[in-house]
Amino acid sequence: MNAETFGCNRCWPPWASAAWEAFLALSVEAELVDESHFAVAIRACAACGQRFVIVFTELIDWADGEDPQDWTVLPITAAEAAALVKAGAAIVPALAALAPRRRSLRREFPKGRRPRAHWDSGISVGPHD
Ligand SMILES: [Zn+2]
Repeated sequence: MNAETFGCNRCWPPWASAAWEAFLALSVEAELVDESHFAVAIRACAACGQRFVIVFTELIDWADGEDPQDWTVLPITAAEAAALVKAGAAIVPALAALAPRRRSLRREFPKGRRPRAHWDSGISVGPHD
């Protein structure tokens, strides 16, 4: 087992699809980037206090209205949350430097297909407009 444990049953359940639903119920603590095709926010669990960073990217292909969207959720420590808030314009390298091996939750909505949530690790900020 990993020595690092994050969250509780309410905010970080063991099934990816359930974890995505649980994540959506958490309250937003800070919005760090809020662009239409790239967004970064920190949410926190009211039950256990665990913070999570969420990264959203969307790639516009101009072909029609359905563009590929991608979300990554990573549980973070209070110190990591503080560092992200201070990162400012350096937010992308700051995200990439966060625990690349820590389990993250990924939700992909590929063009023309159904959205799918699955476990991943760390955060890689994909291409976006
Ligand atoms: Zn929790």
